[in-house]
Amino acid sequence: MSRARVALLAAAASMASAVLSLPALPAQPGAPASWYKGNLHTHTLNSDGDSTPDDVVRWYREHGYQFVTLTDHNYLTSVDGLNALHGADDKFLVMKGEEVTDAFEKKPIHVNGFNPSSFIKPPGGFSVLDMTQRMVDAIRGAGAVPSINHPNFGWAISADELMQLQRTRLFEVFNGHPLVNNNGGGGVPGLEEVWDRILSSGQMMYGIAVDDAHYFKRPEDKTAPRPGFGWVYVRAPRLEARALVESLERGDFYSSTGVELQSITATSAALTVAIKTEPASKYRIQFIGRHGRVLSEALASPATYAFMGDESYVRAKVLESNGKAAWIQPVPVGASSPR
Ligand SMILES: [Zn+2]
Ligand SMILES: [Zn+2]
Repeated sequence: MSRARVALLAAAASMASAVLSLPALPAQPGAPASWYKGNLHTHTLNSDGDSTPDDVVRWYREHGYQFVTLTDHNYLTSVDGLNALHGADDKFLVMKGEEVTDAFEKKPIHVNGFNPSSFIKPPGGFSVLDMTQRMVDAIRGAGAVPSINHPNFGWAISADELMQLQRTRLFEVFNGHPLVNNNGGGGVPGLEEVWDRILSSGQMMYGIAVDDAHYFKRPEDKTAPRPGFGWVYVRAPRLEARALVESLERGDFYSSTGVELQSITATSAALTVAIKTEPASKYRIQFIGRHGRVLSEALASPATYAFMGDESYVRAKVLESNGKAAWIQPVPVGASSPR
């Protein structure tokens, strides 16, 4: 985040303090902004999903989402007809997407492109890093926003490789597919540790949570990648694809597996998180800095962490008593902050 952005957030926060509920921070001075719940990764019959685009979009529309991105493997599903049928101004949007899919020496390399102008052909590559970077660049070439998918799926992309990537700001810190190894193991770090390694290396990265849903007709099958496990809440001036991806690239969103927030307030002095609490649940709010160190932990909402000035970055995580979580994006703090 730039100094100007921190100043903007500070100004916006003072405006928002009178409101104390979402939407808290306008994306631009004077512009109203709302929070939109969406899933950024899902499949249809156009690749290896079990349902038509119509059925998939219908599921998200009927389950309280404001947007869904169709990301079939190496296929760009048209959304015009879907939006004509299901879209509604400021209520629901289908966003174009493609999961650019290839493998390097049997390691699956999958990078999502959000809102591309045209189909993106997998560009090949000479190493895991080279192939991933070429995908990122091909996605940028199609005017889309890249996001690195499930790095631990097939143990494909390491933290060292992720921190060398350029021109990408997004990766999946949580993917709802049951076989993607979010938590790591056998000496391979889980994706939250990966995230802190990237940030501590000086590279800014934002973590998204997604479904990667394939099966909508097997709701009881726990071995199937089903919908409803991970999503983002994006703060944007309007429900429109370009506005949503711009907010994602600014880190103006949070990720969730079931925790909803009341507000996030980042100023030049502090980060404050307020939860929409469920009466039967209890919560911990962790503020996390360089190398994944927990800087402080609060047991009540709202919780504030006042910056010391030398943290490099501060991010927050909300842990709910049944295992649900929310991830608040890192805020740069001090001269050594990630860029
Ligand atoms: Zn994938
Ligand atoms: Zn996928």
